[in-house]
Amino acid sequence: MKYISTRGQAPALNFEEVVLTGLAPDGGLYVPETLPEFSQEEIASWAGLSYEELAFKIMAPFVSGAVSDEELKQIITEAYSTFRHDAIAPLVQTGHNEWILELFQGPTLAFKDFALQFLGHLLDHLLKKRNQKVVVMGATSGDTGSAAIEGCRRCDNIDIYILHPYQRVSEVQRRQMTTVLEDNVHNIALKGNFDDCQNMVKTSFGDQSFLPEDRQLVAVNSINWARIMAQIVYYFYAGLALGAPGRPVSFSVPTGNFGDIFAGYLAKRMGLPIDQLVIATNSNDILHRCLSDNDHSKQSLQHTLSPSMDIMVSSNFERMLFDLYDRDGDKIRGLMEDFKSGAMHLDESALSKAKELFSSHKVDDETMLDVIRDVFAHTEYLLDPHTAIGLKAARETRRRQDIPMVCLATAHPAKFPEAVRKAGQESDPALPTHMADLFQREERYDVLDNDIGTVQSFIAKNLKA
Ligand SMILES: *Cc1c(COP(=O)(O)O)cnc(C)c1O
Repeated sequence: MKYISTRGQAPALNFEEVVLTGLAPDGGLYVPETLPEFSQEEIASWAGLSYEELAFKIMAPFVSGAVSDEELKQIITEAYSTFRHDAIAPLVQTGHNEWILELFQGPTLAFKDFALQFLGHLLDHLLKKRNQKVVVMGATSGDTGSAAIEGCRRCDNIDIYILHPYQRVSEVQRRQMTTVLEDNVHNIALKGNFDDCQNMVKTSFGDQSFLPEDRQLVAVNSINWARIMAQIVYYFYAGLALGAPGRPVSFSVPTGNFGDIFAGYLAKRMGLPIDQLVIATNSNDILHRCLSDNDHSKQSLQHTLSPSMDIMVSSNFERMLFDLYDRDGDKIRGLMEDFKSGAMHLDESALSKAKELFSSHKVDDETMLDVIRDVFAHTEYLLDPHTAIGLKAARETRRRQDIPMVCLATAHPAKFPEAVRKAGQESDPALPTHMADLFQREERYDVLDNDIGTVQSFIAKNLKA
């Protein structure tokens, strides 16, 4: 399969190349040239498959030519072997025809493990075959960093450098990163904010001359296509468990960068009968404003109790725009050019297509806390703040009670004790047993000045792989 850029001016790449790059040279994001489509009969025949078996069916067409069937099966088995629950993505019922899809059973307690456990094993496999070593560099305000580190810690051919803003991530999140002591894992606490971290990474991808000649940078943020691909699987898994393709299902997705819900849209295009796809946002509501008022403009960042959705711009929305504009790269280039000055307006036909595909709803902190309280009072089930936003948006936008509504639970409540306490819980939610000693573990990280030369020479000097 070939992959093309959303801005239409970069050469097409194969799967292996697309996994090992970041942005396309024209500034766009890569998407598959064509999507595999499965017939209703074929999807029906998958009922009862294990998560790993289903993952193979769905991902095989995307990787064909780069990874053999046997290799793909092995990568999948290894990727999901660290999940605590045998179902990998279990469903829990919270109301009539209303379900929570627990995507936090992986090693770092957030849904990002689904993509990053897979990506880590995939990279390890590809790099061994190519006899190549790479440097993974990323910025994190929380969940991505720990999931990426966990995904790469055992990869012999990867050095991973994760930058987080010094003293500005929660203690659970920091410790999940800094207590991984393998010597190919490097945590940098940058004396700056998250934007400084991100700019540092962007600049380094733009000019990689600080690295030895035989090394290149690989991106692990959600612009990496393999991450999106791995996330398509759980939509099918939940759908099949609830009666698809014999009946439709709906999904509500706590949304930040639009990676997760974009995978849901792809599942629909590939044949899963999805009725509603609900974009749930916190007060950083650019997507909700775009859909309801055609207002896709940057506003200042709000710090909320659901920090993993605190974004000003949803980078993966560009992939969606590409389809809404019938894959016209010139149009996307124009829109993104407009957006540089702060805002873009969708044309009539693109906007009406988007409205047909998605519902949206915005939930502020106070309302979110009410939801955690209310659901706990009724069911004794404790939601994390992101999931609570998804559940509220589902309840507000739901059109049909006879269609199962699946709310994606993107994190375990123990990751966000501040919100859980504010919602009235008397003690912090307990960490799962494999992490119960997190606060006693040894930490290792380096505090560096917010200076590109300092960071780049630190990276070059500390390569281990
Ligand atoms: C990353 C994250 C999100 C947002 O997902 P996107 O793919 O960026 O839309 C939501 N909730 C949690 C807990 C996350 O870590």
